[in-house]
Amino acid sequence: MSQVINSICVLLRMQKYCIFAIIFFNLKILIYMKRKFLLTICILFISFISFAGKFVIIPVTESQNLEILFADNDLKIHYYCDNYVLATTDVADYHSAVVLDENAFGDVSAYAIVYCYNESKQKYLASVSKSDKVLYSGDHFFIMKILSNDFKPAKNDGMVAIMNTEARLPESTIVYPVITEPDEIIENLISQVNTESVMGYIQTLENFETRRCDHANSVLAQNWIKAQYESFGLSPFIHTLTPPVHPWWGGTCQSGNVIAIQYGVEFPDEYIVLGGHFDTFTYESANNAPGADDNASGTSGVIETARILSQYDFKRSIIYCAFTAEECGLYGSERYAQKCANEGMNILGYFNLDMIGYLKSGNNLQFSLIYPNSALTLADYFANVCDVYFPTIPVSRHSSLPWGNSDHTSFNNKGYKGIWWFEDINCDSPYIHHIAGGSGCGENSPCNGVIPCLGDIIGPSVNSPEQVTTFTQAMVASIATLAEIVGETLPLAPPTNCQIEYFGDFGTSITWNAPQGMTPNEYYVYRDNDKIVQTTGLSYFDTPENYAIYCYKVKAVYIIDDEIKESGFSNESCVPALSSPTNCVAQYVENEGIRISWEAPENISVDFYYVYKDNILCITQTSECSYTDIVEGFDLHCYKVTAIIHFADEQIESEFSNESCDSVPFNSVIEYNSNFKIYPNPTTGELIIDNGQLTINNVEIFDVYGRNLHSLHVDSRLSLITINVSHLPAGIYFIKIGKEFIGKLIKN
Ligand SMILES: [Zn+2]
Repeated sequence: MSQVINSICVLLRMQKYCIFAIIFFNLKILIYMKRKFLLTICILFISFISFAGKFVIIPVTESQNLEILFADNDLKIHYYCDNYVLATTDVADYHSAVVLDENAFGDVSAYAIVYCYNESKQKYLASVSKSDKVLYSGDHFFIMKILSNDFKPAKNDGMVAIMNTEARLPESTIVYPVITEPDEIIENLISQVNTESVMGYIQTLENFETRRCDHANSVLAQNWIKAQYESFGLSPFIHTLTPPVHPWWGGTCQSGNVIAIQYGVEFPDEYIVLGGHFDTFTYESANNAPGADDNASGTSGVIETARILSQYDFKRSIIYCAFTAEECGLYGSERYAQKCANEGMNILGYFNLDMIGYLKSGNNLQFSLIYPNSALTLADYFANVCDVYFPTIPVSRHSSLPWGNSDHTSFNNKGYKGIWWFEDINCDSPYIHHIAGGSGCGENSPCNGVIPCLGDIIGPSVNSPEQVTTFTQAMVASIATLAEIVGETLPLAPPTNCQIEYFGDFGTSITWNAPQGMTPNEYYVYRDNDKIVQTTGLSYFDTPENYAIYCYKVKAVYIIDDEIKESGFSNESCVPALSSPTNCVAQYVENEGIRISWEAPENISVDFYYVYKDNILCITQTSECSYTDIVEGFDLHCYKVTAIIHFADEQIESEFSNESCDSVPFNSVIEYNSNFKIYPNPTTGELIIDNGQLTINNVEIFDVYGRNLHSLHVDSRLSLITINVSHLPAGIYFIKIGKEFIGKLIKN
């Protein structure tokens, strides 16, 4: 057994701890323990010892390159870039290593790479808590151990949290396609990138006010992004960050990553991943971080790419990501890339968009392509795509951003290839991480002096819709080429936004928008499933002979190589159905009668209405939405309404509205201060009316519903009139003498 322990330990080259394990074993305390349990103890022991060691930075050189460093079992590498690795090692005086922390991860769960221009370092250090330790000061960066929560990053963007996980170099040996000339299908897809659409997404994200991951609004933004993917027919899910992330400067991240997978039809296990972070940060406010350029712009580019590509089938799977918690150390993408690595997913490449909206006026558009050398082949592939489809736009190559980082780094550190194309690397937006009225905009920027902070919003910070569009098009082209569309030809783009306006028997106007991309030669207009006309315009006025709920849709028709080719149908738009009037209300109005009112049917203009009373009787027709019925007595009356339209000589009547009832209420009986005496009241049988000096011809008795139950012609010469009411059921009644209501009678 000691041999087993020894061999595992040798494997891990952690002999000094193994001595303890062997002693432990030799004490024979474990003699009765079962073999499995013993192994568990040993593994626990080893996992404990694997956390021990020194946290070091080791420069990457030609003779000590990344392959050599990664192959060395004396190092547990947590992070790498082209210039250095951050690792834990037990080896004393590892060649050219600088020890940063004698006890790696002893009192923190993560270290941080904090980017800071060399010339700003002193000022920055004066601004952070003394408990935050600088472990290393490199060229425009620090390695820091952050021990306070009033910490803030130094310059702009892309702090990297270094966690106690193991980094990997990419293993895939994928050979990327080489293209020499544009493909019509890809060009069609590129042309579908719509500036208004992608700028609209940016505006919506900006409108969340803040998307800081520890703010509740980031959950609203997360849900909105998810809803966009759902509207494209994808089935997105929220990838929750576990364990939870606590930004150095705030509470707990509430939002998760939004992930939507479009499975490939031929190679579903080969994934192409694109993403951008949607969380934001400003120096000035926890509640205000609009983040239009950083990074509503990139998030929107990813959503727009999904909008277009989700309409088609591809051989390989495409994963659309919106990451949270980038601003506090790339946590969101780190967790997702780790999950992919744990599941052994074969990711052919990760494509990152972060800040694609700012271009200093007068500067030329270019792709600043950022990637570590380990992702060179993927970068070459992207440059190849750009050369073919965007030949006038140069690609400049950079191994890193001098002052920051982004989510592609998470993928590169988990064994994949990740690249990032960025707005002008020498003149990026000076407004990011600031609100309007903040300070420090443009400080140390290579191209902007200190300028008024206008906030990271559309206008000053996202100022080039053209660049947003082009960068998104580059995403569409590189993803679609690599994923490979299925089918020989792309379905031709249909017209969009088909709308009708109904003008009764005058006719129906149909309008639509031209499809994105190629211009069609003409359009076919369909009424239901009948082609009724072909036209080169973008509208048609149809005059059908009768009323029906006709639905209209349009096809684009292209002549390609002398052949007529039709697109699919546009959306459909239908003549409104003649629906019933709604919300019919009957209500007594004093001294007028029962007033009936209703609401017109939606979507269609009505010629007039029929008002029905008590189920059968049509009492009037009116073009108004109300009518007052003059009623007599206290009867309950019920009303309902229909709507009528005319079409040529035909009259079309809707279904009934709801029914509503009312009656003249009894409190409308005017108190009559007469000389009559009516007794006994309550009565059981006979009622005597003492008429005083007045002449009486007529006595009527009504029930509480206003129904006349008893009508009696009386001899006016009698001073006392006797009425037999014994036939009436017990209850409350009203007596009318002559034309006047006298009052209330109670029959027992
Ligand atoms: Zn960013």
